[in-house]
Amino acid sequence: MLRKKTSGTARRSSLASAIEAIGASAMDRRMFLRRSGLAAGGLAAAGALTGTMVRKAEAAGPTRARVDIKKSICTHCSVGCTVLAEVQDGVWTGQEPGFDSPFNLGSHCAKGAAVREHAHGERRLKYPTKLVNGKWERISWEQAIDEIGDQMLKIRDESGPDSVYWLGSAKHNNEQAYLVRKFAAFWGTNNVDHQARICHSTTVAGVANTWGYGAMTNSYNDMHKSKAMLLIGSNPAEAHPVSLLHILKAKEENAAPLIVCDPRFTRTAAHASEYVRFRPGTDVALVWGILWHIFQNGWEDKEYIRQRVWGMDQIRAEVAKWTPEETERVTGVPGSQLRRVARTLANNRPGTLVWCMGGTQHTNGNNNTRAYCALQLALGNIGMSGGGANIFRGHDNVQGATDFGVVADSLPGYYGLAEGAWRHWARVWDVDYDYLAGRFATMKGADGKDRPMMFETGIPVSRWIDGVLEDKDNLVQPDNTRAMVFWGHAPNSQTRLPDMKRAMEKLDLLVIIDPFPTMSAVLSDRKDGVYLLPATTQFETYGSVTASNRSLQWREKVMEPLFESKTDHTIAYLLAKKFGFAEGMFKNIEVNGEEPLIEDLTREYNRGMWTIGYTGQSPERLKLHMANQHTFDRTTLRANGGPADGDYYGLPWPCWGTPEMKHPGSAVLYDTSIPVAEGGMGFRARFGVERNGDNLLAEGSWPVGSEIEDGYPEFTMAMLQKLGWDVDLTDEERAEIEAAGGENANWKIDLSGGIQRVAIKHGCAPYGNAKARTVVWTFPDPVPLHREPLYTNRRDLLDKYATYEDKTFWRVPTRYKSIQENDYSQDFPIILTSGRLVEYEGGGDETRSNRWLAELQQDMFVEINPRDANDLGIRDREMVWVHGPEGGKVKVMAMVTERVGVGVAFMPFHFGGHYQGEDLRSKYPVGSDPYVLGEATNTAQTYGYDSVTQMQETKATLCRIERVA
Ligand code: SF4
Repeated sequence: MLRKKTSGTARRSSLASAIEAIGASAMDRRMFLRRSGLAAGGLAAAGALTGTMVRKAEAAGPTRARVDIKKSICTHCSVGCTVLAEVQDGVWTGQEPGFDSPFNLGSHCAKGAAVREHAHGERRLKYPTKLVNGKWERISWEQAIDEIGDQMLKIRDESGPDSVYWLGSAKHNNEQAYLVRKFAAFWGTNNVDHQARICHSTTVAGVANTWGYGAMTNSYNDMHKSKAMLLIGSNPAEAHPVSLLHILKAKEENAAPLIVCDPRFTRTAAHASEYVRFRPGTDVALVWGILWHIFQNGWEDKEYIRQRVWGMDQIRAEVAKWTPEETERVTGVPGSQLRRVARTLANNRPGTLVWCMGGTQHTNGNNNTRAYCALQLALGNIGMSGGGANIFRGHDNVQGATDFGVVADSLPGYYGLAEGAWRHWARVWDVDYDYLAGRFATMKGADGKDRPMMFETGIPVSRWIDGVLEDKDNLVQPDNTRAMVFWGHAPNSQTRLPDMKRAMEKLDLLVIIDPFPTMSAVLSDRKDGVYLLPATTQFETYGSVTASNRSLQWREKVMEPLFESKTDHTIAYLLAKKFGFAEGMFKNIEVNGEEPLIEDLTREYNRGMWTIGYTGQSPERLKLHMANQHTFDRTTLRANGGPADGDYYGLPWPCWGTPEMKHPGSAVLYDTSIPVAEGGMGFRARFGVERNGDNLLAEGSWPVGSEIEDGYPEFTMAMLQKLGWDVDLTDEERAEIEAAGGENANWKIDLSGGIQRVAIKHGCAPYGNAKARTVVWTFPDPVPLHREPLYTNRRDLLDKYATYEDKTFWRVPTRYKSIQENDYSQDFPIILTSGRLVEYEGGGDETRSNRWLAELQQDMFVEINPRDANDLGIRDREMVWVHGPEGGKVKVMAMVTERVGVGVAFMPFHFGGHYQGEDLRSKYPVGSDPYVLGEATNTAQTYGYDSVTQMQETKATLCRIERVA
């Protein structure tokens, strides 16, 4: 297991030093915490750091100050654990895990138990700062907004709005995420994105294109009902620790086999009943190898496939090629083991499939996610309680930020960027469509015709550096990226850091809005043109956040903003005001002073998010759920009596119709065993009604209580009229539908919700009832194929499994074949992969600045198999260089371990602040350097992007490891 070091070189804070000094005398740490007023939080943290369940702490002792309990949600992963913050006279003095929360049941992991320290962190940015002649200078907010605004307006004049990039965040709450996307629209660019691009964009694309929605289908809690659990490229014991409560419950109570497929023997694998070690980057081959046995033995669910799945014959034809011999040749896994896995899955239904970034972060990540879907569809596991595709998300609000369109290819709610989508949101925002269109640039296309940038996908965050560095004639936008705004994003979570350093140095302007400086503040050698703006944490504001299972939870504000920090929605308002569009943008949103009212933002998106059912979750309903967490069942998530009786906890989307309609939310997507009014539905009719003469609508399958007992397309006004159901519409609904296009209006753009209401009244899902498709004819590989990573050392496989041709998409030229055709494997013989640690999160700045967490893991390291280490003359804990084939290198500590197989090395991705052997601590603004610094694995990680979404490849590249001389 990971080492715990207490003698590292991290700087000690004054409090830490004080604790140490006291510990050396008569008082122990616990006593000190009690006396220093940190008792409850400190004790809770100390309990949780041991990895055990914590007990409710008793009151710290007699005190006259009144203790207020504020309910918030942990900001460190998507499980959504409730934090009870104890506040005295406005000071956050202690914390407890929420015992009533159905998600965490009184448990926290180390990160959750330490969030008070995150908010109160003394290493936070305290006031706006700018870099002048290589020195950080304190400035006022007025000066910062003025100077940044003037420079951006100048760039806009000279190069157009697309030359400013607005990089948002999975750390924003829903209201802020929605506002950031709206802000980009008013600025006039689709160059807006966030972390989902580099964690689950291939999931969203793959899953949405298979059965309709790009999200986790079931929930952590629903896994209580699983009879089998298959985890691929997922290590929840470290990335989503409290989810283990639910996973182990199924393992123990249902005797559910836990099958963990991972190139690395992770902490999760340590709990497995079957561990499958496979070669990084061969997920499709592995899944097809499992399916081969299922088809060979007739274990697939034939009736389910007939009724609800299209394209399985084409999958079967591809799978036939993946004999046990071929699968073992490519993946390294013996056929006998995969036969056992297949039989286990077939004999234990419903079973769930969990995947995370081990599956998604590949050049063919969309193929991986679709192969996982095909496996679950073949087994008939989707739309079943206990089954599903449980896709664990990383950050606390990466699901919400994706849903709200902080992405380069869509407006909020996955409406896309076509004219109809813009017209819909213009109506919701109550702004003239032509005004919005006028905010965007137009460029000449290759055909000489005007190409409005409004309808073009922007540059994804994975490629922003190429927006800066690429010759502008090769870009599909008017000019290069010249200003970059990192609004809650750690740069070290992205690959190709040497290229990013060059890009940062070439920019006109670099703006960092964050509670912490992040590595953006120190990576480049710039002397000026960098601004650091202190944003608050989520504990200094309030609003909703969407957990991985699509449930929304409402955070209360724990404390007022610390230092001179401002909330993200306030910063958005200040910038909008500077740019002159605040009046239009906040037309229907109350602004108090300079802070927009969160509840008005919720109500505004309730008016527009019909596609995925973010319309029924009013602030009032969400607050009611938080206040009555104890009334919700811990497995079904359904309230059993009480004021929210019948609702699912957090109204997981889709929560159809208006709040007044009181739809309960949908705990399990595509479940036809319950009526739509109670959260049931079939697969979404999203891909037409027919393909090559085949019927794409469901056959012989419909949600219980449906008046249409067969498949049907999505609902329009014309369809309601044909069915004679339009008589159920109210006059107000009719008027709204008329304004949305009359009989052409559909369930997605009717702002009254009338079409949805009437469809549901008759037992139908507004989005139709169709088959899932296993073949996505619009993707580069309609049937998912195995393709070797760009940097592969299996040159013998390239004749059959080569990568794609180079191409330009998402505005930038993208290389595939031109990299793979070069053999790097002689000089870089070891496969390099990366992943997460339990102590830290994301780029790690917040958590490495948290003294409770920083103490636990102080050294960046690389895991090397003993055999490789011995061959290379490297001993455990020695310093080594890890070289990447593109010239990046990192100096890290060797951890010699059999967690990784022979020929594979692993590095965690949370470290930053060192660069190619150099310690950058002195470059941080005084007092804001994280306690723990280290090399970023992404300095050595290389080029490689998914063929559909531009997801970065971080799980399968090559490296060379050498002992530091
Ligand atoms: Fe819960 Fe995740 Fe926070 Fe840990 S990091 S306490 S599992 S939400």
